[in-house]
Amino acid sequence: MSASGYTVAEANGIWVFVEQDGGVLEGVSLELLGRGRELANQAGTILTAIILGDGVLAAAETARAVGADFVLVAEHPALATYTTDAYARVVADLVLERKPDIFLLGATPNGRDLAGRLAVRLRTGLTADCTWLDLEADTGLLLGRTTGFGGGVYATITCPKHRPQMATVRPGIFRPPAPVDQPWGLIGTIPVHLARRDQRVVVEEHIRHEQPGLTTAERLVVGGGGTRGDFAPLRELAELIGAEVGATRVAVDQGWVERERQIGQTGVVTHPKLAFVLGASGAMQFTVGIDAADCVVAINADRDAPIFEHADYCIVDEIGSVLPPLIEHIRAGRGVHVK
Ligand SMILES: Cc1cc2nc3c(=O)[nH]c(=O)nc-3n(C[C@H](O)[C@H](O)[C@H](O)COP(=O)(O)OP(=O)(O)OC[C@H]3O[C@@H](n4cnc5c(N)ncnc54)[C@H](O)[C@@H]3O)c2cc1C
Repeated sequence: MSASGYTVAEANGIWVFVEQDGGVLEGVSLELLGRGRELANQAGTILTAIILGDGVLAAAETARAVGADFVLVAEHPALATYTTDAYARVVADLVLERKPDIFLLGATPNGRDLAGRLAVRLRTGLTADCTWLDLEADTGLLLGRTTGFGGGVYATITCPKHRPQMATVRPGIFRPPAPVDQPWGLIGTIPVHLARRDQRVVVEEHIRHEQPGLTTAERLVVGGGGTRGDFAPLRELAELIGAEVGATRVAVDQGWVERERQIGQTGVVTHPKLAFVLGASGAMQFTVGIDAADCVVAINADRDAPIFEHADYCIVDEIGSVLPPLIEHIRAGRGVHVK
């Protein structure tokens, strides 16, 4: 790879790209600010948040409130909605001017898009879809853990010679940080100059999808291929116990559940207190998404299903035999009677 825009010796500080939509921060950006703060403390360096948009000063305050030392705000009407050209232009110019050592982005659709474009433009490496971040003890290099070879192995990747060291990180890996007692960070506004070629795409309509709160849910009801598409009783159970509905990739690929509800390596990582997992085999690519649950109740007709190795309570039975009485029992316990 040809040389990046600045040298290792010139690079300094940790940056987090803070993604927002209509002024509302992406959860993964907050999670990265939390982990970024920990890494910056470990390395004895500065944490900078960078926010692009139009009317995003309140979002900047939120980034400052969770411990960013600097918040760089780039505001322009053309940045109100994400477009690759405009965002990549503004961020690449800032990176080349201020030379961060590490640059972290959320592995959201926009974060992935921007990270790829930036890595090429900045001539640096990108560890995509990380499931953990750390610093190497003796070198201070960013360690990005990700999965490779179809999810079969974990790889820890470093970028020793090019800067910035870039990584995208999956939502739900790190806990969102609590606000600091007395925020000390500074917020600075950056002048934005966009050329015509940076505004080739005009967003005419911006449709917002409500994201299910899987990464923050305390309770989950998760279905897999064993449901054979009958998610109605799972939704009923979820409603009764105040849970979010999640699914394995098989259930999503079959079109039984929306893609946003997929749990696992290519879905989301969750941290519920309680997860019911019904008719899921327990493939590693799925279980990485529920392994942080406090309590997993697995229901599977096959007593040798790998899911039982990840469960606290194992029920070897058909979903159809377990779920209706369970729902009835919960209803009865609450004085709600089933006809
Ligand atoms: C690169 C890569 C990334 C991937 N990412 C993900 C990901 O993010 N999330 C994900 O989930 N998968 C992912 N996968 C797919 C993963 O490997 C598995 O194929 C998938 O998780 C299997 O889904 P499943 O367990 O629901 O389905 P199946 O493998 O079909 O298992 C169904 C289970 O239901 C049980 N069952 C059947 N009928 C009943 C019944 N009536 N009652 C009770 N139990 C019953 C069976 O015993 C079986 O264990 C990925 C794969 C690759 C290669």
